[in-house]
Formats: sequence, structure tokens, C-alpha cells
Amino acid sequence: MTATETAPFEIQPRQTYTPCREGGGRRFVVVKVDGDRAEVWDPFGGPRGLGSSRWVAVRNLHASGTTQHGRQRRTGYRLLSQPTSKWQELCGSCMRWHDEDDMAVIAHGWGHSTCKPCKAANDKRYGAQ
Ligand SMILES: [Zn+2]
Repeated sequence: MTATETAPFEIQPRQTYTPCREGGGRRFVVVKVDGDRAEVWDPFGGPRGLGSSRWVAVRNLHASGTTQHGRQRRTGYRLLSQPTSKWQELCGSCMRWHDEDDMAVIAHGWGHSTCKPCKAANDKRYGAQ
């Protein structure tokens, strides 16, 4: 290990990832890590949009969207959010973890809840229900 290398980045369940490149894929949450691959869950994936899980290679998951040389990554996924307590809920719209108080809708299953900022944005876009 050289002096410029930082501590290894650890991939853990409940972290969410977003494509390094805009339009490079869909966001997902890590379910579990098994060796060099991770099982991930996309809350709105699958043919009916009800969620789907798949495996991705751990080497495609990065701590940030830039390399240690400051270059923009064009492939793989970068860390978006990770919970700071086990009581937090995952918003399926922004794929970020929030305290329960920040949630507008809490639904069963990862990523089917909605945070207050996303709910407000949706209401603005589609008209309040
Ligand atoms: Zn949200």
C-alpha cells in the first residue's frame, strides 16, 4: 500500500448507490455482500415496477464519483446515502435515508416510503391529492 491510498472503502447492507454517469443505470440499495459481489434491491425495478433484486460486482461500487486522481468516473456506481441509525427509513424517490420524522409516507419494504421533501416536490409536480 502506498502513502496516497486511503483506508479501504467498506460496502455494507443498506447503503444506497447511484450511477457515476447520468443515465448510467438505476439506483439501488445493498441487501447483502457475499465475497466479491453484492445483492442489491431496486424498489421500482422489475417488469411491474414493484422492485427487483440482482447481483453486482463489488468492484463497481465506489465511495465517490471521482477517482483518487480527481477524474470523473464514467462507469460503476457511487455511494449516495447510508443510514446513521437503525431507525431511519429509506425514501424510494431520492434513495436517501431519513429519520422517521422526515418521512411523509412510511410503507412496508425498503424504498417504498417517501420523505417530506420528495412528497412536497411530487405534490407540486402532480398536484396535491
Ligand atoms: Zn426522498
